[in-house]
Amino acid sequence: MPVNQTKAYLVGGGIGSLAAAAFMIRDGGLRGENIHVLEASSSLGGSLDAAGDAASGYSMRGGRMFTTDNYECTWDLFKSIPSLTGRGKSVYDETIEFNDRYKSHSRARLIDKRCAKVPVTSMGFSMADREELLKIVFAEETDLGNSRIADCLSPHFFETNFWYMWSTTFAFEPWHSAAEFRRYLHRFMLEFSRIETLAGVKRTVYNQYDSLVRPLQKWLADQGVRIFANSTVTALDHTDEDGRLIVTAIHCQSAGQSRRFQVNDADLVILQNASMTDDSSLGSMNSPPAKYAASHSNGWALWETLAADRPQFGNPRAFNSSIAQSCWESFTVTLKTPSFFDQMTAFTGNEPGTGGLVTFKDSNWLMSVVLPHQPHFIDQPPGVQVFWGYGLYPDRIGNFLSKPMDECTGAEILQELCGHLRFDPQSVAGGICIPCRMPYITSMFMPRMHSDRPAPVPQGSKNLALVSQFVEIADDVVFTVEYSIRAAQMAVYSLLSIERKIPPVTAHDKSFRTQFDALIKAFK
Ligand SMILES: Cc1cc2nc3c(=O)[nH]c(=O)nc-3n(C[C@H](O)[C@H](O)[C@H](O)COP(=O)(O)OP(=O)(O)OC[C@H]3O[C@@H](n4cnc5c(N)ncnc54)[C@H](O)[C@@H]3O)c2cc1C
Repeated sequence: MPVNQTKAYLVGGGIGSLAAAAFMIRDGGLRGENIHVLEASSSLGGSLDAAGDAASGYSMRGGRMFTTDNYECTWDLFKSIPSLTGRGKSVYDETIEFNDRYKSHSRARLIDKRCAKVPVTSMGFSMADREELLKIVFAEETDLGNSRIADCLSPHFFETNFWYMWSTTFAFEPWHSAAEFRRYLHRFMLEFSRIETLAGVKRTVYNQYDSLVRPLQKWLADQGVRIFANSTVTALDHTDEDGRLIVTAIHCQSAGQSRRFQVNDADLVILQNASMTDDSSLGSMNSPPAKYAASHSNGWALWETLAADRPQFGNPRAFNSSIAQSCWESFTVTLKTPSFFDQMTAFTGNEPGTGGLVTFKDSNWLMSVVLPHQPHFIDQPPGVQVFWGYGLYPDRIGNFLSKPMDECTGAEILQELCGHLRFDPQSVAGGICIPCRMPYITSMFMPRMHSDRPAPVPQGSKNLALVSQFVEIADDVVFTVEYSIRAAQMAVYSLLSIERKIPPVTAHDKSFRTQFDALIKAFK
């Protein structure tokens, strides 16, 4: 069948799916109107969400960092997507210009319990720390197996400046996968030599929903892609022919109605096989977020069913069986008076958008905040300011509140933050803080064996690909937009036999210069 008659069904509307749709059209020649995106929630973008307004408060689950030294597939895609605001510019061009104007150079990366800036030019390593770190860097991933970071590094390492900066930049905790930690050390080796200033970090003009999802969604809609929001896929029908799995139909619940999409022989199905923001919940100034557990959304069910008796579809249990170890909490604050931003600018020495994460290294919640360039929402009125923060250990009692973060209201989180900064609570008067609990936010970092993640097109699958943070891509790192977009490009190019070359993972770690700089830094 000619490719322009092929239909595609994309289960999930995260950036991975949207990228897959774009690659199908741009590089595969599929017609937009033959592509169907089925998304459970009311809007597209998945984890790259942002919503709200100045009156009721903005919220976004995450604030994201990018680089232009990596993120090869992301920029390959966004060079083709017109920005919403840049008059003829691509999203990529707009992002580069923005970062030329607002360069990241943190002057207050770590703050200690006395509310003093910690000098961070030294990483704080002992000789034993250096030896252990190098051992991980030079280990084969297969030898690390499903060991934890804490299995490979001694307690002192977790008190170093390096650990506080690296772990809060990327959200690592000691019980996470040593293999994943090793991949980060390789993939982001360039960041090692500038981790204390975050000088390699690139930002989008607005939050990532406004700057990435909305332009991409508009481009897809302009191509005729059919988007079905509020549509939860409940089952995939399939046959096994000569050991090859073929999806034949998709069952969906859409606004209380059951719907079935027939999948014909030459059609393609892409499944987002799990989400790091599944079962997440928002609180308010007066209430903490609800504590949802696995049974709430059934978000892992489709993958669990596929993997039940097919080892090539991986092992979801490696990732979703310990919420206590994969949960943390973020918060978004909307302010209508400038006092907090003014005091932070004076204290840190960074204008909003030039500093990046400020981490309270001795805080029990291991709390960090980021003040992005304003406005951070495309519709944000003048005089309103928005910032984002998170706590890596939300189950621990606070330093200024005798409550764990995940039992705190937004007002209490602001109280704890002002305590760490020694700011008068008046500095956030009238502010709205919306907390967000994410039970699976670091599920991709849980210790895993190589076989626990399926390939984007699992062996023996004829028309089904998986696009998510839970597939195996050699040398690339999870908890990134890049990983989902690379998975999408690999899946689409494989299913449609596209010959255009996928941008390779840049081997910065193989460059002598980069290795040298990282080593110098480690010995400072
Ligand atoms: C707090 C936070 C901070 C982050 N920081 C960074 C960063 O600094 N840099 C960076 O690069 N990345 C960062 N990320 C990661 C990045 O946002 C994600 O890796 C990426 O957005 C994942 O995209 P995805 O499309 O794979 O999955 P998701 O965005 O999770 O999308 C999956 C979608 O599938 C839908 N879905 C699932 N099951 C079904 C079903 N049965 N039927 C219909 N729909 C379904 C879900 O509703 C969801 O919309 C961060 C993420 C968060 C949350």
